[in-house]
Amino acid sequence: MTIEETTEAPAAAVPGTTGPGSGRAFDVERVLAALTLEEKASLLSGLDFWTTQPVDRPEVAVPGVMVTDGPHGLRKQAESPDHLGLGTSVPATCFPPAATLGSTWDPELLRRVGEALGRETRANDVAVLLGPGINIKRSPLNGRNFEYLSEDPVISGELGAALVDGIQSQGVGTSLKHFAANNQEADRMRVSADVDERTLREIYLPGFERVVKRAQPWTVMCSYNKINDVYASQNHWLLTEVLRDEWGFEGLVVSDWGAVRDRVAAVAAGLDLEMPASGGRTDAEVVAAVRAGTLDEAVVDVAARRVLRLVTRSLPALDAAAASGEVFDVDAHHALAREAAAAGTVLLKNDAVPAGGSGDGPAGVPLLPFAGVDGVAVIGELARTPRYQGAGSSQVNPTRLDDALSALRSATGAEVPFAAGYTVDGADAGSGTDAAALLAEAVEVARAAGTVLVFLGLPASYESEGFDRAHMDLPAEQVAVLEAVAAINPRVVVVLANGSAVSVASWRHLAPAVVEGWLGGQAGGSAVVDVLLGAVNPAGRLAETIPLRLADNPSYGNFPGELGHVRYGEGLLVGYRWYDARQADVAYPFGHGLSYTTFAYDGVAAEVLRPDATAADDDAAVRVRVTVTNTGDRTGAEVVQVYVGDPAAQVQRPERELKAFAKVGLAPGESRELTLDLTGRDLAYWHPVLRRWVVEGGEFVVSVGASSRDLRGSATVVVDGEDVRLPLEPLSTVAEAMAHPVVGPHIQALVHGGAVAEDMLGMIGDMPLTVVADFGMGGFDRDGLTALLAEANG
Ligand code: BGC
Repeated sequence: MTIEETTEAPAAAVPGTTGPGSGRAFDVERVLAALTLEEKASLLSGLDFWTTQPVDRPEVAVPGVMVTDGPHGLRKQAESPDHLGLGTSVPATCFPPAATLGSTWDPELLRRVGEALGRETRANDVAVLLGPGINIKRSPLNGRNFEYLSEDPVISGELGAALVDGIQSQGVGTSLKHFAANNQEADRMRVSADVDERTLREIYLPGFERVVKRAQPWTVMCSYNKINDVYASQNHWLLTEVLRDEWGFEGLVVSDWGAVRDRVAAVAAGLDLEMPASGGRTDAEVVAAVRAGTLDEAVVDVAARRVLRLVTRSLPALDAAAASGEVFDVDAHHALAREAAAAGTVLLKNDAVPAGGSGDGPAGVPLLPFAGVDGVAVIGELARTPRYQGAGSSQVNPTRLDDALSALRSATGAEVPFAAGYTVDGADAGSGTDAAALLAEAVEVARAAGTVLVFLGLPASYESEGFDRAHMDLPAEQVAVLEAVAAINPRVVVVLANGSAVSVASWRHLAPAVVEGWLGGQAGGSAVVDVLLGAVNPAGRLAETIPLRLADNPSYGNFPGELGHVRYGEGLLVGYRWYDARQADVAYPFGHGLSYTTFAYDGVAAEVLRPDATAADDDAAVRVRVTVTNTGDRTGAEVVQVYVGDPAAQVQRPERELKAFAKVGLAPGESRELTLDLTGRDLAYWHPVLRRWVVEGGEFVVSVGASSRDLRGSATVVVDGEDVRLPLEPLSTVAEAMAHPVVGPHIQALVHGGAVAEDMLGMIGDMPLTVVADFGMGGFDRDGLTALLAEANG
């Protein structure tokens, strides 16, 4: 058979080239029909580290396309490929990693970052950017938390969808990763995440679900780990039943690099593309399985079709970019990276400074923003040598790099005094002579300064892809510098650089102001200066709780597991859900972040629009209203957060859960009424027995606030909900039977001849009906019970 499109442009069909105007796009069905079984099997694995396999013969020409990391910048390697960020890659804008982007709570901004990422991907002839990563931050110790957005699935889903949308608007694809329950690096290629279905459905999967339904990523990347003993790459339930049949995913599933253990089982489970190349080994296994009758060729066709579709849908944008010699705007993207880093910076603390102490400057007002920089000194090597991204596959070769010290000097035109205080490469060097000399120098600089900016953070050796952190602490030598500086000058602002929560409890009292800059990407240095100087009013909010102690974290004791298993023993109570349920103190709660202005909340109200809402409805079930006013004297943005609690249900529910949020910019004195809608699904829980989402009727408490601990108003609504009755069975209890609307009164009358006093019910309430029948306590025997159950279950 002759394939029209390819015979028209055979020369341009050579893999890896982009012939200008070649029109290489092809008709998927016609190509598929022309392919041999061997060719179809070959499409299901990579050609090399980053390219899909081409088919190149006179009648059929399917080019190979490149897919590459991701997520916060392009890591296109020119030579010596690897998946750990070891080899060099082409220059690309290093946007802030997800930890910082997550703290923006700003989908519109993330969409713009996504568009820029998409432009760079397209201009570099790459079909798919491998990101975003949206796994839940189960423990602060996960070495890869910097690549993830939040401990909460609503943030992960909303912001993940915005990124996907932005990237794909440029005609290239994304890879939503790592699907699923990949919440640690320890033993990541083998460990079984042992987690109950309700927890998966309510915590670990809904972020993915939201992105899939909203933005249809071109690809989803399965994770390395097992889920309840089944490798994600071979998990039919996950990759086909949930992802495609339930959520309607239309794209392709690609393996994480090296995640496939049994290729034939993976194809059958719905894993379309294995990366990187297997050197033809697994292609042959697929062919052999079809020939042996253990794998249906139709299943291979489905996967091959998805690969072909992925290739052809990327070609128009890549060909157009090549034809026009498209380049991206380095300056504009750097400026956007700076905007995003500033937006993700969280002002944790900004207390009024007490009078006294040896530092000079006004007392009774906060240190930030600086009115001027007279007398400001900078301490900390990280101000000069920024840590701006994490290590591993996401490591970008930036187009340029800002450091905070130079940015402060050039923004102010002042020769700001500086002392390194510690080294970043020799972290934990201890109390050797060099460390002592650096510390002494820092103290002298602090002594002479009006205000001291102390830059602290995690060295690269502390957090990375591939391993988890050992603890939550900053290097001891850095804390020692802070202690020495604060002892001499109490006017201290700490600026943090870290990819995941660090302990602050032991030292935060030493600094009236603390700025969490996360990892700011290539423009992070200037972005943090924008915040310090007040050019940007901070509006970042914590997308992860900062606990007082690591031992307070809910996964403590169950992280990272042992002997190939990690038990998600905390269930649903991840992050703030746990701290709120236990009313435990935290250092800074989820959603927290200060501004240089203040906001008032008024008129919190909630109205039921659909009393009969079900979990399947997309329209608004409850409408929440609140008026927010900027009560300070600066323009600023507030992140309004809506939490929902369900005090009485068949199952225990978290105290409150984030279900909606909105970021609103307000001028001084300006008020705005916000309307935030909740769907039935926002009220629903995953019923572990019925194995579906249900909205159980009753009261819901809707709280509106500025963090999970700073609730400014609440309203109670009553929703009819759905019928969530369980069928009555012989082992149903007396109490369950009495609550049944059909047979309940009947049973009440029968048990003990109707003489079931309250205290008696306490004793026999949990007794199974069949035991009641056998004991002759209910006036019915087993046959009578069978009749009752038939009546109850209709
Ligand atoms: C990482 C992925 C990455 C892939 C390719 C893997 O080790 O887990 O996130 O996309 O390598 O570099």
